[in-house]
Amino acid sequence: EWIDFSIYFNKIIDRFELTKSQNVIFVREIPTTPMFVEIDQDKITQVLDNIISNAMKYSPEGGRITYRMKEEDTRIIISISDEGVGIPADNVNKIFDRFYRVDRARTRRLGGTGLGLAIAKEMVQAHEGDIWAESVEGEGTTIYFSLPYDRMAEDDWS
Ligand code: ATP
Ligand code: MG
Repeated sequence: EWIDFSIYFNKIIDRFELTKSQNVIFVREIPTTPMFVEIDQDKITQVLDNIISNAMKYSPEGGRITYRMKEEDTRIIISISDEGVGIPADNVNKIFDRFYRVDRARTRRLGGTGLGLAIAKEMVQAHEGDIWAESVEGEGTTIYFSLPYDRMAEDDWS
């Protein structure tokens, strides 16, 4: 269905903000201008849930999680940044592989199966978007994904 992504994105973040028990600070850099995209809402909700859960899981006490969204020519780019442990440079692309986990000892302690991002990748690709990561060990991680966007389709709404 067609949805205004910034309104939808804010609702997802609200849900995490209202239920979080951890001390993390949410920062939103989300434009309020309408950006309509055609998505399978259940699937993109799962993508966001997986990425945000990871950001919380790997955040330190008092860490910031920053939510951004911007418009490019033919796509919107959504990003979620944390100030957590980060991922070593040579492993950063592998995190989207099934069952891949960076540090066995650490991840055993934190739990999970290593499927969250593989599922997210599948869902984003089904929407003809991309997903990628940037990370600096000890400083934090940003996960990005894109979704096709057509500003002309937008104009038909107004
Ligand atoms: P699951 O999501 O199935 O519960 P998981 O969180 O371990 O388990 P993924 O979400 O697929 O699996 O993530 C794969 C691995 O990538 C994680 O085990 C972790 O090592 C690393 N990773 C993912 N997101 C982050 C992040 N924000 N900061 C640091 N490491 C991360
Ligand atoms: Mg996960």
